[in-house]
Amino acid sequence: MLYLVATPIGNLEDMTFRAIRVLREADLIAAEDTRRTRKLLTHFDIHTPLIRFDENCSAAVAEKILPRLIAGETVAVVSDAGLPAISDPGADLVRVAIDAGVAVCPVPGANAALSALICSGLDTSRFMFAGFLPRAKKNRRDLLQRLSTITATIIFYEAPHRLKNFLAELVDAFGDRRAVLARELTKLHEEFLRGTLSELAEKISEPRGEFVIVVEGATSIKISEPTEDIATVVEKFIADGLDKKSAMREAAKLFNVSRREIYNALIREETQ
Ligand code: SAM
Repeated sequence: MLYLVATPIGNLEDMTFRAIRVLREADLIAAEDTRRTRKLLTHFDIHTPLIRFDENCSAAVAEKILPRLIAGETVAVVSDAGLPAISDPGADLVRVAIDAGVAVCPVPGANAALSALICSGLDTSRFMFAGFLPRAKKNRRDLLQRLSTITATIIFYEAPHRLKNFLAELVDAFGDRRAVLARELTKLHEEFLRGTLSELAEKISEPRGEFVIVVEGATSIKISEPTEDIATVVEKFIADGLDKKSAMREAAKLFNVSRREIYNALIREETQ
């Protein structure tokens, strides 16, 4: 069995009873950083042998671990913090294990993205985890452009020294949407900063600590050709069963304009 074990993202009390038991009972713990994990294990009086398993050595280590898994041993994967395989090593090992017919089991617990989302006050019914963006400028821009039309809430990770620049990139690609910076989650200086992207960029002069960036999704309809779009939207509402007046009222809410403007746009459309 291959266990994917969550560890705290700051507060040690977020370690679960099950995580402690699974780590104690495992034959081997594959850890992103053995020095860091050893401290955690010492705190919880766990004495299981450790092997390093980071992105650089994952293929080689997977080759060592796999025969042991196939022979029936239990291996637990942990990362430095939170869920392994979420912007952390572990996913490769999961794939290798599945291909070899080894069972994989989650031991859930702390995760920065979801902890930020649930306290963001933004829509939690649909969200997308975008994690860290690629480093290359063009790849970042292209990805942000593709993400800009997503209507679900979007969650990013970013290092503090790149945060200001990242917020500027977000404003360029998304416009000035509402967002939340979740800082130092579960730690002493935990903080939630709320506002539009540009307000947040002004609020944080020298960002310190760890951040999750939660950004409101795109409004469901983009007004590129306002007149045409408004007519289409009103038609859609009517097709959904609304009368014309209600359809215009809903369209006005959606585009954040007055009903008079919707009316004028429809007249313009009809007379074109
Ligand atoms: N596997 C982890 C998880 O499940 O959340 C994520 C690890 S990723 C390498 C590290 C990034 O997660 C940080 O740069 C930051 O964006 C976010 N993060 C981790 N811990 C955090 C915390 N306590 N507060 C805010 N963000 C955190």
